[in-house]
Amino acid sequence: MPRTSLLEFDAAAFRAELEKRELPKFRVEQIRRWIFSRKAADFAVMTDLPISLRCELAEKFDIFCGTVVAHQKSHENAEDQSNKKCRQESNGGNSIDHTEKLLLEWHDGHRVECVLLRDNRNHRTACISTQVGCAMKCLFCASGLDGFVRNLTRGEIFEQILRLNQLLSDHERLTHLVIMGTGEPMLNLKPLLSALDDATAADSLDVSKRRVTISTVGIPRGIKQLADSDVMYRLAISLHAPNNVLRNKIVPQNQHVGISEILKAADYFFGKTGRRVTFEYILIDRVNDQPEHARELVQLLKHRTAIVNLIPFNPVTELPYRTPSPSAVRRFLQMLEQGGIDVKIRFKRGNGINAACGQLRRDFRKE
Ligand code: SF4
Repeated sequence: MPRTSLLEFDAAAFRAELEKRELPKFRVEQIRRWIFSRKAADFAVMTDLPISLRCELAEKFDIFCGTVVAHQKSHENAEDQSNKKCRQESNGGNSIDHTEKLLLEWHDGHRVECVLLRDNRNHRTACISTQVGCAMKCLFCASGLDGFVRNLTRGEIFEQILRLNQLLSDHERLTHLVIMGTGEPMLNLKPLLSALDDATAADSLDVSKRRVTISTVGIPRGIKQLADSDVMYRLAISLHAPNNVLRNKIVPQNQHVGISEILKAADYFFGKTGRRVTFEYILIDRVNDQPEHARELVQLLKHRTAIVNLIPFNPVTELPYRTPSPSAVRRFLQMLEQGGIDVKIRFKRGNGINAACGQLRRDFRKE
């Protein structure tokens, strides 16, 4: 029978749980420092606690909920050269790819992926999942292929951040969090916000709230809830198509909502928070990368304070779609720029490590 993971408790419950065992406050803070600042994965390393206390804690609790079952690293020399050239053009040659990916297994045997991204502006970004599998079934995504399994708990979400933080050297610190892994965050918002509260707390990892981005396919109820929650997180909407006919195919969830409702929710978010919304647009060869799509996208967004991230599709073994040519990507970019849209090209990192969401989990399951 697994013990309770301390990560399942929010900061107040963590303190209350230990204090009710008659631990003095300074001991509780010592334990928190060991876990969050000193990256302890085991009570045994907490050498400034009495041995009897370490044993008692180990009997009652686990620190983590799961275990690491795979760890992959990619380096820039694993990249496709044409991709690299394109990326250098768009980023002024200012890009490295030291991406690491973890596959974590929980007590029930289910697994999720999380990714650490590094760039040479000293950004260290943790990309985490919120669900096992996903019900959204986006056309281009490996995670949606098997459907939804279950929501992750607060502890399982927070653990991904801490495990990725453990991969950093003493000279690095986690600067950004992006909720862009497997799952639809707005459908598991309460545990996510609780985990982010801890990750952004000054006595924990202290990641700036302004550097946290939650990405959604567009669930208006969740977007409004996030806007009303008074946290300063960024919002990214995975749009991927400029009209409902095409979006219904690429993001099937769109059939229940429609682009205009999503844009209304995005406008509400901007009005409430003053933070401009990012629209993600995965460019898929001959699916949504044509000039008419760029023109329609300009019409949708030209009067909004927004930014568009164009992401050339990362091939997935089981799917028949392809990456658009560099010239098609450039054409799309230029048409948006000419339409007055603030637009950037982003590349999926980690080409050598199955960096498309859900790929590592699927590959390990096949084995
Ligand atoms: S892209 Fe995101 S929302 Fe869509 S199926 Fe994949 S994990 Fe789910």
